[in-house]
Amino acid sequence: MKTIINHLAENQVVSRDDLRKLLTNITKEEQEYLAEKAREVRHQVYGHDVYTRGLIEFTNYCKNDCYYCGIRRSNKQASRYRLTKEDILLCCKEGYELGFRTFVLQGGEDGYSTDDYIEDLVRSMKEEYPDCAVTLSIGERSYESYKRLYDAGADRYLLRHETANEEHYGILHPKELTLQNRKQCLINLKNIGYQVGCGFMVGSPGQTVDNLIDDLEFVKELAPHMVGIGPFIPHKDTPFAEKEQGTLEMTLRLLSIIRLMNPHVLLPATTALGTIHPKGREQGILAGANVVMPNLSPVEVRKKYMLYDNKICTGDEAAECRVCLQKRMESIGYCLVVDRGDYK
Ligand code: SAH
Repeated sequence: MKTIINHLAENQVVSRDDLRKLLTNITKEEQEYLAEKAREVRHQVYGHDVYTRGLIEFTNYCKNDCYYCGIRRSNKQASRYRLTKEDILLCCKEGYELGFRTFVLQGGEDGYSTDDYIEDLVRSMKEEYPDCAVTLSIGERSYESYKRLYDAGADRYLLRHETANEEHYGILHPKELTLQNRKQCLINLKNIGYQVGCGFMVGSPGQTVDNLIDDLEFVKELAPHMVGIGPFIPHKDTPFAEKEQGTLEMTLRLLSIIRLMNPHVLLPATTALGTIHPKGREQGILAGANVVMPNLSPVEVRKKYMLYDNKICTGDEAAECRVCLQKRMESIGYCLVVDRGDYK
């Protein structure tokens, strides 16, 4: 097993069989060795800095019906909200004062988010905060739409591919959503010039080890700037309410493998990871992650952006989150930095 890990760390090509061994037969001690190697690579590229992104969850209206997601259109229990432009700019102001230099606008696929609207929003954010990066995470759109938003000043785009396996994609989504379109969106975003993030859930219903290997190979092939992964966590008002959640161990293992296969990639220790374990985000950083994405949304709406049950930090002010994360990172020897946190 150590030979496989060393090959990964030396950036050699590793076969599907070897990846399968890493994902299924690894001991605790070997997993610690894997994390150690991933940390080494991360320290070479990014030192002990942890980049932070202010996440603004600006709408939970969504026209899609993904079976796993708490804000899917069929969830009649969800109380819907949409922040105004003024609300969003206030979040940025507060975030800027707290040291955030990246703002992530994330939301459901809301009909209100037209090109005109988002374009105007991005322009205003870039005008007021020219030293900040703006990341969009608003789902699948046309090439022309992505191009307009890029020309308006958006720097980055997060669009998790969710699973790189066609059949598994069909288990997670209704048939109007296709993996082919999702992948095409990612390719378009990259061609336009965005820093692009893909990603997937760990332990989502129906996921096999082979699916995960497909994900690792897809990431390698796309060569994105960011990869967002976190455990699947069931939401009580979705068709997957009774499914099991993804595990901490498997998520950490994948973070380390992704770091070794893609040394420069920006890799967040996600809120979902912090939700399934009280030290999940710290462990994520220790497995090779280098980004955290605390919430900047107004406290009044936080409980409404429930993608999954028991989401953490829904009652805290942005400033509390910032201080809390800073302490958490310092407790493991890392430092939250005031920086746009671009890909190196
Ligand atoms: N509408 C945007 C943003 C989606 S929400 C888009 O389509 O990209 C951001 C991410 O949350 C999703 O990509 C998904 O991977 C994750 N997510 C959704 N439901 C989840 C759940 N039940 N457990 C864990 N992660 C979930």
